[in-house]
Amino acid sequence: MKKIGVMTSGGDAPGMNAALRAIVRNGIYRGIEVYAFQHGFQGLINRKFSRMQRGSVADIIQRGGTILQTARCEEFKTEEGRAKAGKNLRDLGISGLIIIGGDGSFRGGELLQKEQGIEVVGVPATIDNDIGGTDFCIGFDTAVNTVIDAVNKIRDTATSHERIFVVEIMGRERGFLALYAGLAAGAESILIPERPTSLKDICEKLEHGFKRGKKHSIIMVAEGVGGDFYTNRDLRNTPAFALSEAIRDTMGHETRVIVLGHLQRGGAPSARDRILASRMGAFAVDLLCEGKSGVMTGMVHEKMVATPIKKALEQEPEINEEILQLSHILSL
Ligand code: ADP
Repeated sequence: MKKIGVMTSGGDAPGMNAALRAIVRNGIYRGIEVYAFQHGFQGLINRKFSRMQRGSVADIIQRGGTILQTARCEEFKTEEGRAKAGKNLRDLGISGLIIIGGDGSFRGGELLQKEQGIEVVGVPATIDNDIGGTDFCIGFDTAVNTVIDAVNKIRDTATSHERIFVVEIMGRERGFLALYAGLAAGAESILIPERPTSLKDICEKLEHGFKRGKKHSIIMVAEGVGGDFYTNRDLRNTPAFALSEAIRDTMGHETRVIVLGHLQRGGAPSARDRILASRMGAFAVDLLCEGKSGVMTGMVHEKMVATPIKKALEQEPEINEEILQLSHILSL
């Protein structure tokens, strides 16, 4: 393989730049020309690219977001869009493409390989950590640290004012971020989409805490959690606001709501994410050089592994029951 392409796609995640840096530099080290496409799949269709040199990725390992920028591209969801992308890559002599992104981007990549014969390798980067075939995705560790940092600050006020805080965490489908950040931040309750919780259970836990002298409480709620505490009284009826109102109506306690929102996606990548991104990025190039494609890089038990994209997409990662149980025991 003489020329490869690289792009970032879908939601951004801290560490995407570190992965790009590793791809470019390992590619050049192996005598390959590396072309970076901007705005995800849109850049493949519009031929927005530049040839990368070692210096093109200088000073980016510590930067959040992605210097290539990312986009959602509807046109790529059509066969014609993918044909344009395939033709552009072939015209440039690029036969392999590394996609740094999430599951949606990998679905697109799989189709590009199947229909257009471009060899694709995926590098999983998402703060949701919701992709199979790897223990962790790039960006997750940084997001956990960001949430912990925010909760540390909230805890200062919660303790001083003896208040209940309901903190809403990103995660529409999966609760990995809320679970890991909740355990690390010492949250009293963690509500995740995988385990709908009843208002009765939440109130009983709060009551139990008050009885043994607890004066404050932090409840971490993933965006997509289900439960019986939703009402339609308020337009702001996100889980955190809904739960806050329900606790007030049931127990008479005032609560404060914090929705962390997009600040969870930004920031300088943590050491773990920089190392993971560097390893995965370099490994993705190695895979293409070895003629392996249609695969996604992963880290399983600290080792680099390649999993067929199809299999990784089918394997729903499981919530770690031990961590869930532990977070409950430690917060009683
Ligand atoms: P993520 O990669 O973070 O999961 P998205 O799901 O938004 O993000 O996907 C990013 C882009 O990947 C989409 O804008 C689209 O261009 C492409 N894509 C997603 N799903 C498909 C699909 N089923 N077929 C073709 N392309 C897709």
